[in-house]
Amino acid sequence: MKRIYLDHNATSPLDKRILEAMYPYLSEKFGNASSLHSFGQEARNAVEKARESVAALLNADPSEIIFTSGGTESDNMALKGYIWKNREKGNHIITSSIEHHAVLNPLKRLEKKGFKVTYLPVDGGGRVNPDDLKQAITADTILISIMMANNEVGVIEPIEELVKIAREKGIAFHTDAVQAVGKIEVDVKKLGVDFLSLSAHKIYGPKGVGVLYIRKGERIEPLITGGHHERNLRAGTENVPGIVGLGEAAKIAREERIEEAERISQLRDRLEKGIMENIPHVRINGDVNNRLPNTLNVSFEYVEGESIILNLDLQGIAVSSGSACTSGSLEPSHVLLAMGVPPVPAQGSVRFSLGKDNTEEEIDRVLEVLPPIIDKLRKLSPLYPGE
Ligand SMILES: *Cc1c(COP(=O)(O)O)cnc(C)c1O
Repeated sequence: MKRIYLDHNATSPLDKRILEAMYPYLSEKFGNASSLHSFGQEARNAVEKARESVAALLNADPSEIIFTSGGTESDNMALKGYIWKNREKGNHIITSSIEHHAVLNPLKRLEKKGFKVTYLPVDGGGRVNPDDLKQAITADTILISIMMANNEVGVIEPIEELVKIAREKGIAFHTDAVQAVGKIEVDVKKLGVDFLSLSAHKIYGPKGVGVLYIRKGERIEPLITGGHHERNLRAGTENVPGIVGLGEAAKIAREERIEEAERISQLRDRLEKGIMENIPHVRINGDVNNRLPNTLNVSFEYVEGESIILNLDLQGIAVSSGSACTSGSLEPSHVLLAMGVPPVPAQGSVRFSLGKDNTEEEIDRVLEVLPPIIDKLRKLSPLYPGE
């Protein structure tokens, strides 16, 4: 059975060209980028080339790019690093109620240490209202962290507008752009953000490597100290093969993003239309006018998301409910609940997240397999009133 992967927001397959680019740095070019000899210089040059490539993707300066172990570390580094450095300026942080746990959980820890956190509500489509941000700011607010695009429903937040409000008050702004990079334009100058997180494995690169963009002039406290790596902000011998992979992923994203997004969004729309036409009692979650091109989140009423996932998996089709990190717990997604989706349909929600390798045939196969699965599961549900 040919398997179909529709879970790219959880992780994406490693692009063969990226693997090729990494390979020498996993074998003969093994030098430590801090060494003075030619082995070290070879590695150093590769790391700096990757830094330029990521900077070019974000319209940043290479000196503003810090390599980390991934999106989670970048989020932690921005939040804790900024707050430890600036704690005397205030103790209030603003975020949204639909963030990834890589933002929510560090903030929960900070709450335990006495910081105050405001979780902004979102509308039915998942968007933050800029007026709510204005209202939430106090004289104590030191940092705002709002994601650029949500991993579960794909909604894109009005970051430029939100940053303008932060700027007027002189408050630093971080955005988790892990899901946005490679899918929509991410230009740090246009956005005006001070900090931005991204991760290689969500853009066809390797796992365990990411970037925190730190706008020139912004200062943070390092989380990991040791050797003098990454401008003294992130110690540890560089993950050279990973960084090279991320550099290559950024280059490919720069060259192919627009074309791919167009093609993938057509496939996504085909899937959405097919589901709407062939399955009753469904609702699309997330603002369809401000949504990532690859993401489709659907609630199938009277069924549990987990059952749909398992049944699709038996047919070789990989999708997810909520985020990968919360799958396995039967709790309804915090994102859908924040959007006002009632708990029962929230539990019947499935995320389809498409990628570069998906084809029209694959989408049509899903549209063939899915309706009988939903029908079968509904017939087992005591709540189902019938069509
Ligand atoms: C995947 C993801 C992360 C975590 O990135 P890792 O590199 O897996 O640590 C953070 N934020 C969002 C929105 C994500 O989708």
